Amino acid sequence: MAGIYIHIPFCKQACHYCDFHFSTNTKLKTDLLEALKTEMRLRREETDGWELNTLYLGGGTPSILSVEELVDLLGTAFELYDFAEDTEVTLEANPDDINEAYLAGLVRHTRVNRLSLGIQSFEEKELNWMNRAHNSQEAREAIRLVQKYIPNLSVDLIYGTPGQEDESWIAAIDEVVGLGISHISSYALTVEERTALHSFIEKGKSPSPDEEQASRQFYLLVDRLAEAGYDHYEISNFGKPGHYSRNNSAYWQGKPYLGIGPGAHSYDQKRRGWNVRSNPGYIKELKEERLPLEWEELSTQDRYNEYLMTRLRTQWGVDLAEVSATFGQQYVGFLEEQATPFIEERLLYWDGDLLKATREGKFLVDGIASDLFLLNLKD
Ligand code: SF4
Repeated sequence: MAGIYIHIPFCKQACHYCDFHFSTNTKLKTDLLEALKTEMRLRREETDGWELNTLYLGGGTPSILSVEELVDLLGTAFELYDFAEDTEVTLEANPDDINEAYLAGLVRHTRVNRLSLGIQSFEEKELNWMNRAHNSQEAREAIRLVQKYIPNLSVDLIYGTPGQEDESWIAAIDEVVGLGISHISSYALTVEERTALHSFIEKGKSPSPDEEQASRQFYLLVDRLAEAGYDHYEISNFGKPGHYSRNNSAYWQGKPYLGIGPGAHSYDQKRRGWNVRSNPGYIKELKEERLPLEWEELSTQDRYNEYLMTRLRTQWGVDLAEVSATFGQQYVGFLEEQATPFIEERLLYWDGDLLKATREGKFLVDGIASDLFLLNLKD
């Protein structure tokens, strides 16, 4: 399994909490699309020997592109790269871009077979607080239309926003469950530097998110979705059996991926790469056929730390046999020793040879994983 991610760095307006790379100025859109195609052409050989079976358009807001622009971009990707017949092709979309003609065009003219809709909330006041470009009526209408044309649908929901009542959160969960949506990605609100939310909090115009509320709402989500038959296959991701995201699963299972576009990251199992996070800078380099890409070689210790961070977040857990085969038997010893205090605190447990987060550990898993990291070990 391996994948290609294409970053579309434009949005209609800036959500207050967002620190992804995007611009609300779409003047450079045509140049950027040309640059994406050039990057794909220049990096073709990097995927030799990979079994490509997922192509993901993320952002930003990929649904800002017209059907014609998507036909051109995806057509180039399929022409240049050797994808499996049954490749999962996901388009991230915002509700305000969705209408019947757009969806019919996608189905008829592209290989998009999965949509990930940025719903975030069904409550008007929460959507306004986040500065989302859509309202709750558009969210519901978008879900209804997507289910008609592309039933393989995922929705994003955010919890832990200041002032969000548990009742409103439960109603949102029950609504997506009731609509039969097969995949849900859900994140606690976090405050990132260089966002409007960060500056509102600094200036006292918004309260900080409350950790207790976020934890309570996380477990409301976990329990209600378990009851409704969803697998909690990764901390922020829930799917009905057979509906896990291939793109996300590849990432958490340490499979290689190629990231195309400004700010996109790549990983080839030995190195981690990242593209320049600027639309004009990205376009300029590619116009001259240069890759705006930097690589960092990963040591065994880096790869082990990354493996811990990603696998502890999943239902598959950290596999001792895999640790031994990939990193060496000494890493098994380190892991067993460092995990002991967390097992005593009932935050982690051994399921045979698999180390997993307990129910209590799940909400804290990123912190636990970084406490297990090995530092300054010689390769
Ligand atoms: S639409 Fe998505 S990428 Fe764009 S600002 Fe909002 S959260 Fe960020």
